[in-house]
Amino acid sequence: MNETIIEILSYPRALMHQYIELEDCAHAGHYAAKEKECQRCDYEFECQWLFGNDECVALEQKSSEAVACSFESAIAYVEGMSILNGHDTHRCTCDNCTWTRDALLFIGELKCRQMR
Ligand SMILES: [Zn+2]
Repeated sequence: MNETIIEILSYPRALMHQYIELEDCAHAGHYAAKEKECQRCDYEFECQWLFGNDECVALEQKSSEAVACSFESAIAYVEGMSILNGHDTHRCTCDNCTWTRDALLFIGELKCRQMR
């Protein structure tokens, strides 16, 4: 199950990579919660998510709860981007909105399955 989620998460990961600008980052994207620069950074969310969920951290080894948690924050991120840009996330057919709808359906099913 985690494998499917990891595959789905490649979309927001690419999106965050695109958005983030690391040229000015003193840590080269190695998020450090205690660093003042990180706390004040415009890309704090993206950086923190990417650093916690990148290929190098091996999502495969995380618990399904931790993966679901990363998944939910990624959904909120992609959906938030769409809303900020004035998309109707229920009807819009762009990549972001389509991904958000599919991801919400997927995580909904996942939760139902866990409750059974
Ligand atoms: Zn859209």
